[in-house]
Amino acid sequence: AKCKQGESFSEGKIVPYGDISISPSAGILNYGQGLFEGLKAYRTQMGRITLFRPEQNALRMQMGADRLCMTPPSVDQFVEAVKQTVIANKKWVPPLGKGTLYIRPLLIGSGAVLGIASAPEYMFVVYVSPVGNYHKVSSGLNLKVDHTYRRAHTGGTGGVKSCTNYSPVVKSLREAKSAGFSDVLFLDAATGRNIEEVSTCNIFVVKENIMSTPPISGTILPGITRKSISELARDIGYQVQERDVSVDELLEAEEVFCKGTAVVVRAVESVTFYETKIKYITGENALSTKLHVMLTNIQMGVVEDTKDWMVEI
Ligand code: PMP
Repeated sequence: AKCKQGESFSEGKIVPYGDISISPSAGILNYGQGLFEGLKAYRTQMGRITLFRPEQNALRMQMGADRLCMTPPSVDQFVEAVKQTVIANKKWVPPLGKGTLYIRPLLIGSGAVLGIASAPEYMFVVYVSPVGNYHKVSSGLNLKVDHTYRRAHTGGTGGVKSCTNYSPVVKSLREAKSAGFSDVLFLDAATGRNIEEVSTCNIFVVKENIMSTPPISGTILPGITRKSISELARDIGYQVQERDVSVDELLEAEEVFCKGTAVVVRAVESVTFYETKIKYITGENALSTKLHVMLTNIQMGVVEDTKDWMVEI
């Protein structure tokens, strides 16, 4: 669907997957005026197709649109576009246990703009791709704490899902992977002393039954999984603290784990900071395993969705 500045989105249409054509002077190509979202369609035990809290993705896109001066789709338009795209691609939703259908909504400045300003026209696109189960309980992540590259700066766009947040990550991730790590953990740009987030997920640090996670202060993405897992953990009696977490505290933790739409909940097996490598609790006794089961049981329709998180298609 398209929308001119100051107007609202018109009805969209379903088209076969393929290239889209935009002006060379489009806001997205010149000034990175673009946002994306990521969510999944699940096949439940009863054979239904559901979405997990899609209105949360819609609201996050609205927050991002405000930061990047774009007109976003309404929550209803967003959710409806996601639903219609999933319906049109129903045959690609994997069977229960075999994966999910990953959904990628994009909002871009598609209109031509030469000076630095918001593009006069925006495009909202949704595409999908089946993905396998990312999570293996038996294997945790081996993270490298990146002490060279920063992902987000105070006052920047780190707190919204802007395309440009991911360009600084590519090199950092490539270097970490070629050194044998599975992912990168970024530090805050201001002090370099506190942890922020991993390339595509938020992080929790556990010690003495207290789960701590960096606060939402504009430099990390307010993850929907982060929020949901915090709620589930509180339900079973854990204390969840949102506050600055230093690298020292990370290195002294008992357990560390990540959560996000792609990884769901995933244990961190080790963290490496310069020459120091620390190992953490993983496997059956880990809190992350328990929370992973709690969340996926809701998503797969194994237990009753008492929180009204799932939206049926
Ligand atoms: N941080 C970053 C940088 C991400 O890209 C993501 C994935 N959207 C997350 C955190 C986790 O967010 P969510 O739980 O909403 O997927």
